[in-house]
Amino acid sequence: MSKIKKLPIYEARKIAAGEVVERPSNVVKELIENSIDAGASIISIYLEDGGKKLIRVVDNGCGMSEVDAQLCFEHHATSKINCVEDLSNLQTFGFRGEALSAISSVSQVTLITKEQSANQGIKVVLEDGVIKDKCDISVGVGTDFIIENLFYNVPARLKFLKKEETESRQIINLFQAFCLSYQNIHFKLFADGKLMYNCPVVQDLLSRSAQLWDHNLAQNLIPFSEQNEGVVISGATSDHQFTRFNKNQIFFFVNGRWVKNHGLVKALLKGYMNVLPTGKFPAAKVFILISPELIDVNIHPKKEEIQFLNPKKVENLISDIVKKSLENHLSKQIKSDVYFASSSVKLYKDDKPFVAASQTTFDFEQLPFFEPVDQHSMESHPVLFPNLEKESLKASALNEIKTNEAVKKMTSSSDGLQLATERPNLVMPMDEQIEDKNIAKDYEIIGQFKMTYILLGKADGLFLVDQHAAHERILYELFSKRFDEVAKVKLIFPVIVKLTEANLNLVLPYLEILKKNGIDAECFSKDQLVISSTPVHLKDVSLDNLVSQLISWIEEYNTVDKNEFFKLINEKLQAQMACKAAIKAGDKLNTEQMQQLLNDLDKTDNRFSCPHGRPTGWLLDNYEIEKKFKRKT
Ligand code: ADP
Ligand code: MG
Repeated sequence: MSKIKKLPIYEARKIAAGEVVERPSNVVKELIENSIDAGASIISIYLEDGGKKLIRVVDNGCGMSEVDAQLCFEHHATSKINCVEDLSNLQTFGFRGEALSAISSVSQVTLITKEQSANQGIKVVLEDGVIKDKCDISVGVGTDFIIENLFYNVPARLKFLKKEETESRQIINLFQAFCLSYQNIHFKLFADGKLMYNCPVVQDLLSRSAQLWDHNLAQNLIPFSEQNEGVVISGATSDHQFTRFNKNQIFFFVNGRWVKNHGLVKALLKGYMNVLPTGKFPAAKVFILISPELIDVNIHPKKEEIQFLNPKKVENLISDIVKKSLENHLSKQIKSDVYFASSSVKLYKDDKPFVAASQTTFDFEQLPFFEPVDQHSMESHPVLFPNLEKESLKASALNEIKTNEAVKKMTSSSDGLQLATERPNLVMPMDEQIEDKNIAKDYEIIGQFKMTYILLGKADGLFLVDQHAAHERILYELFSKRFDEVAKVKLIFPVIVKLTEANLNLVLPYLEILKKNGIDAECFSKDQLVISSTPVHLKDVSLDNLVSQLISWIEEYNTVDKNEFFKLINEKLQAQMACKAAIKAGDKLNTEQMQQLLNDLDKTDNRFSCPHGRPTGWLLDNYEIEKKFKRKT
């Protein structure tokens, strides 16, 4: 006996509908796309119960004739293509004539529509995909789709719908994407009778972002636009001062269509390398224009995913543009084009008109290890060796001179400036330093606040730099990228680190990582490690702590893949070294040291935040200041 039966057509359609419609947001998407295809300039969306009870999309597009208003629900009914060849020339969203057929087979649908040339509109009511009622109606040109009780006839799917907030969130996300992509359309979103978003036509992305989110976001967005190898990338991304707990504000559009693509998001985040704290995400809107031959057109039933023929190329472009935009943005914040000196504002320090020190060139003689280490020199170089014991400083420094090849070379040089690479906290090689002399004329150092923040007067406001975060970033970049420029010091009294036998065995295989980072450590006994040299910056750092920290990372990450593990430990170690060696909050800095720090920061990659993601600086702009003093409203 035959086991195969042909399903009744309405059952088959319900099953097929699942490809297009899984949840309310899919319905909203199809309806908005149809409205856009119909040339609408105003689109209003109404939801009840996260779209489960009601989805209504009203547009002022071209509308449909009486015949089309019934035909549109047929399977494969479309006005957009005639044959499969048309697919490649398609400019509209829809193309398979499936959406309305699918939606109508799993919900109760009412369509009210009128086209320009008709005297009357038409209202059509469907249930189970079958027309139950139809009548003439007096309405304006456009289309009104009312979708009620989604999946009322497919209990298996109904139970997979999420709670109202989850479904709403997805619709809002989709709504925001359409608003961003179509700034020339007036969109409105009502939920349970309340107007949630009203977004009239705007001229640019930042104004759209201000309508959808808050004005603060628009202020924190950095616009960009670049054309490269036939790919145009434009949009805006948030600066280091703005973060989100999730990726809901990251949008990518390829040739105008919102796409979800993991690779693109990853590339974006890579552009922020180390700028954002762990678990925090930026807001970004990125528009990619690319020749249709270089992408795999959306064959995906819900048309959400996209594949690039050369994904790496596009991803690299994204990472680069984001990184570049962030760097330019902070540079602009630190050095505005307006020279402060020429403005009418005068700065005072100790009751005297104050002019910032010009770029200082530290010379050989000024370094602490060339002077008798007295109170004076400790005060004038707290950046270099904040907590170091005077005697050991002198001893180790002298020892350094005897042992360090680089220093020997420097001492024979007639140009004291060449010591720069040896001077502990200076990042730049000398040629760059000299070029650098006139840097930073466009801000004035006001002074240090709470011995923690450097205050800068700028034409556009008051800029605050966190001295620890800034120095930490400078050192981290130095340790991770330019380690060859860091001097190593042989310790006169090698440090013995006492460990349990188990911990010593745990750490032994990783001594090479320490060595790569300038820390020479060897097994001394069955429970002791001896450290004989460290990078010059680490002289005052507790090596005991550093080793214990290393052990805890080894324990914590030992399940991670081997290569990844080494990379991770290396990064952690460098971040920790930078943190420990950096000047601290509470360290007093003189003007020269502040100036040096700012110059070094300006030359450092990823300078917007410390390696842990805290910002290095931010601007309190003139407007905010004046508002607080009620000079502006
Ligand atoms: P597709 O969009 O793939 O053509 P749909 O099932 O989404 O398929 O829509 C079928 C047809 O119904 C469309 O081709 C279009 O002619 C018509 N249509 C749907 N929505 C609208 C609308 N809002 N305004 C005018 N015509 C519409
Ligand atoms: Mg469609």
